[in-house]
Amino acid sequence: MAPTTTAPVTQDGDNPAGAARRDPHDGHGGPAAAVWCRAAGKKFGDDWVVRGLDLRLEPGTILGLIGPSGCGKTTTVRLINGVYRPDEGAVSVFGEAPSTMSNRRRATLGYLPQRPVLFEDLSLWENLNFHASLNGVRLRGRRRRLRHLLELVDLHDDAGKLVRQSSGGMQRRLALAATLVHQPPLLLLAEPTAGIDPILRQRFWDHFRDLRDDGHTLVVTTQHVGEAARCDVVGLLAEGSLAALGSPGDLRRAAYGGELIEVETDRLPGEDALSALCDLDGVHRAELVSGRRIRITVADAGAALAAVVQHLQGSGLHAVDAGEVGVDYDDVFIRLVEQAQP
Ligand code: ATP
Repeated sequence: MAPTTTAPVTQDGDNPAGAARRDPHDGHGGPAAAVWCRAAGKKFGDDWVVRGLDLRLEPGTILGLIGPSGCGKTTTVRLINGVYRPDEGAVSVFGEAPSTMSNRRRATLGYLPQRPVLFEDLSLWENLNFHASLNGVRLRGRRRRLRHLLELVDLHDDAGKLVRQSSGGMQRRLALAATLVHQPPLLLLAEPTAGIDPILRQRFWDHFRDLRDDGHTLVVTTQHVGEAARCDVVGLLAEGSLAALGSPGDLRRAAYGGELIEVETDRLPGEDALSALCDLDGVHRAELVSGRRIRITVADAGAALAAVVQHLQGSGLHAVDAGEVGVDYDDVFIRLVEQAQP
């Protein structure tokens, strides 16, 4: 599936709050965007908690929303699912304002809230079955679908347990299954992997990517910043604004000013060797990070690596180890949040 494109959108002061003014494919002739926000904002009292939100997600995309606690992730998700009407700008989902959708159209949305809504005195199976009937899942094939979902969230052996006898983690997993039960084209998932062990987390992400490949669109908020790498597009919210929006690679480049490679040499490189590296095409910076290890910021790691190693050899320094640096998204996150601060 092609990665999502995001296009910057300009402010439009004439737009009545909450209205999706027009089909937001902006004259491209294709189907409406799955999610489209134009200068959208939400305030509580006099305080804007989300402002200037510009976003366009094509169907078949995973958007990861990350950001510090209280930065506006939940509010953004609630603007998209129509719980909140924007106080300025516009939001649309498949070409329609979500806050005024009919119940039937609302079934195109699946929303996993942070706190699951479940019936305590019903079993896990009964809860899931209730969600299935509420969302119009046909009886034919329903048992199979429920079984499949309970297996996905690793609750098949607990299906008969009452919700009040199950742990918080089990309830969150059941809530995820309930959100997926009617296979909505747009899924809004608030921290679906919170408190989930790494093996199950991997299984969930595999499933999210399968859904994406089938054309579903997912907006996922996450505190596991490393999960950003699994998304097509990542939005970093800071103090209610999108401080960064792009592919995981784009964010990594924005954080470091390029891609990173590291080379360990057989001898300690001198200052002159480091500054000579910076004269190479596509090399932005070279610094010694530890011992004989040089970290080099480059425009394109794939293209620069061989040239850097060759250049060092020409200066009498032999590379004993060289390669692109694996990305620590926690570090990317911290750098971008710091950059976003005034
Ligand atoms: P977290 O990661 O901690 O869940 P978040 O990024 O989801 O946080 P939001 O829940 O969207 O953040 O909240 C953004 C800001 O808006 C916070 O300062 C919060 O206190 C405020 N806020 C959220 N809901 C309301 C409300 N109903 N009334 C007043 N302020 C609110």
